[in-house]
Amino acid sequence: MFCQRCDKPLTDDEAERIVNAGATGAGGTITVCRIPCKPSPRQTSPVGLGR
Ligand SMILES: [Zn+2]
Repeated sequence: MFCQRCDKPLTDDEAERIVNAGATGAGGTITVCRIPCKPSPRQTSPVGLGR
């Protein structure tokens, strides 16, 4: 399983399942790190734009 916040692979021991109350649709449970982690910085980066 993977952390849905920082995208890292997690073992069952490191993972924490939380209920995302505001989620649309059924199944609002997400898996994140037990320890506070930072969201992946690449999340909103534009892809394909040159440097
Ligand atoms: Zn994480």
